[in-house]
Amino acid sequence: MSRSRKPDWLLKPLPTGEEFTGIKQTLRDRNLHTVCEEANCPNMGECWSGQDGPGTATFMLMGHRCTRSCGFCDVETGGGEPLDPNEPAEVASAVADIGLDYVVLTSVDRDDLPDQGATHFAETIQEIKRRDAETLVEVLIPDFQGEPELVREIIEAEPDVIAHNVETVQRLQGRVRDPRAGYEQSLRVLEQVKRESDIHTKTSIMLGHGEHDHEVYQTLADLREADVDIVTFGQYLRPSTDHLQVRKYVHPDKFDTWERVAEDELGFLYCASGPMVRSSYKAGELFVDAVIR
Ligand code: SF4
Ligand code: SF4
Repeated sequence: MSRSRKPDWLLKPLPTGEEFTGIKQTLRDRNLHTVCEEANCPNMGECWSGQDGPGTATFMLMGHRCTRSCGFCDVETGGGEPLDPNEPAEVASAVADIGLDYVVLTSVDRDDLPDQGATHFAETIQEIKRRDAETLVEVLIPDFQGEPELVREIIEAEPDVIAHNVETVQRLQGRVRDPRAGYEQSLRVLEQVKRESDIHTKTSIMLGHGEHDHEVYQTLADLREADVDIVTFGQYLRPSTDHLQVRKYVHPDKFDTWERVAEDELGFLYCASGPMVRSSYKAGELFVDAVIR
């Protein structure tokens, strides 16, 4: 199969409809941004509506420009944007208005800030919980350069899930991620959360960067060693020709295999795995099914 032409299993129509347009308007009115929209994520219909459970949306905090530059990522490189002090309250108010039961918060990396944005992240979690303690909050956090006191700020804000992505296998870290990121550093962040709390932890791995099966297996084993609860697998898709090439479109059967290995053999609480799965894919539904019901 040609590397440039996407296989049929990656073609998915974008959703339309009144409810969908209403949510978009609520976000525009508050000048808020979701990864769902900015990445034109094809899962929006499923995630936002929460067909079989809580609806999920992923908010992007702290601006549009990231201080890092990862070869797979479409976010603009830069930094230095002033933080919006109203953002935590605006996000909490939008969550309440839209009626989301499960919220994912993520951000660009802000290596330029003295606390790398940890306090802003923590405040947003607390604002959402203050409005409605029942709202489940998952945060997908940066590595905070491995500084334990910054990770601790997030732990102390008591989200329900703390996610941090290893993104790829150990050998490919240098090619795929910004040089300031790293496999061991990411594992340490995830380990710290479990050592210091009973918050669920989660990570995500992209397939299609040229990883070998034994390396994927080793990554899963290392993650279990760090007591990580939840793992997701998705296909890497190249945002533009300036980004890393897709080395392989991995067949859906292979995604099913990794899901079985993760859940049945290695004992992850659950694994979401499929070509179009993203770290936050139907996160609410899956979390409630596995943990709460
Ligand atoms: Fe993108 Fe995150 Fe890398 Fe920044 S740190 S470039 S947001 S993947
Ligand atoms: Fe949004 Fe994540 Fe669902 Fe995509 S997978 S629509 S980014 S919540």
